[in-house]
Amino acid sequence: MNAPYLMTPLIEADQVSRRFVRRLNYAERLARVLGARVEAQTVHAVDCVDLTIHRGEVVGLVGESGCGKSTLGRMLAGIVPPSSGSIVTTEKNAGPRSPDSTRSEAHAARRLPRHRLATQMIFQDPLSSLNPRKRVRDIIGEAPLAHGIVERKQLDAYVVDVMERVGLNPDFRDRFPHQFSGGQRQRVGIGRALAVKPDFLICDESIAALDVSIQAQIINLFIDLRNDLGLTYLFISHDLGVVEHISDRVAIMYLGRIVEIAPTVELFANPQHPYTIALLAQVPRLSNRKRQFESIRGEIPSPLSPPEGCHFHPRCPSATQRCRTEKPLLRATGAGHQVACHLVEVR
Ligand code: SF4
Repeated sequence: MNAPYLMTPLIEADQVSRRFVRRLNYAERLARVLGARVEAQTVHAVDCVDLTIHRGEVVGLVGESGCGKSTLGRMLAGIVPPSSGSIVTTEKNAGPRSPDSTRSEAHAARRLPRHRLATQMIFQDPLSSLNPRKRVRDIIGEAPLAHGIVERKQLDAYVVDVMERVGLNPDFRDRFPHQFSGGQRQRVGIGRALAVKPDFLICDESIAALDVSIQAQIINLFIDLRNDLGLTYLFISHDLGVVEHISDRVAIMYLGRIVEIAPTVELFANPQHPYTIALLAQVPRLSNRKRQFESIRGEIPSPLSPPEGCHFHPRCPSATQRCRTEKPLLRATGAGHQVACHLVEVR
């Protein structure tokens, strides 16, 4: 395996946070006018995350539902601007993406056309992420034509080439998305992303909605595309088995923060954060098929009011008084291995 932490950075998130404010509804506004203490609520989706992804690397991002991994992926893709912190990409003409409350998200998107092409997202549900009124030839061919990647007279051959690359029969290019199976639709989504010649693919639970046998085919397709085109991936998933199979490094996220990040082999052999240890204990293995599985105690707290100090302390069996008040920072504990826990020894 490569030593990805020694490679060239492709994108760097520096202390990136994203908060969403839930506006008051009509009844709440009326109650406030009448004197009730009703405040707008803020969801702390991502909280001061540092993450560097290197060119050609596959980084797995793992965590429970609602931990902020999709929001982080959308910020890296330029779909959602950060509330604070900055994201810097080495793509030409991209420039840094910093919070800018005076500009709209649409304006921010228009500022970074090259980056938005170089980074593409592949979503969980291919049916809802594809336009049902468009034929596959238009779904795949529209963006490269609009951005001048291909001329109109070469478009048909270009679409055929993209479809063959993602394992689709080009004879089906006049079909609509609903005329394909789930796995084929995901291949259309991957083809649409590849058609603009990206460097960086963000796969947000891209295989979660597929049958297990189809999942294996799509994972193999991702691996082949990486080998052929030198693509970089952020692979967002709650499935540790899949992430272990495909990733060079794995980042574990809990309630908006990355709590541990390490090369894949190291993380699975030597997990150090109590949350990572608890997650890995849930992964079924042939070697421990007779053991009783125990879920992590308690529920993930609401991102509307995350706990003080270490976000994991209400569920952590090793929590101390310090954990309740002081936020643990990510610290290096080995080559490429970082952990955010007060109890982990720092090298
Ligand atoms: Fe548990 Fe404390 Fe470490 Fe958080 S900082 S994971 S509460 S021991």
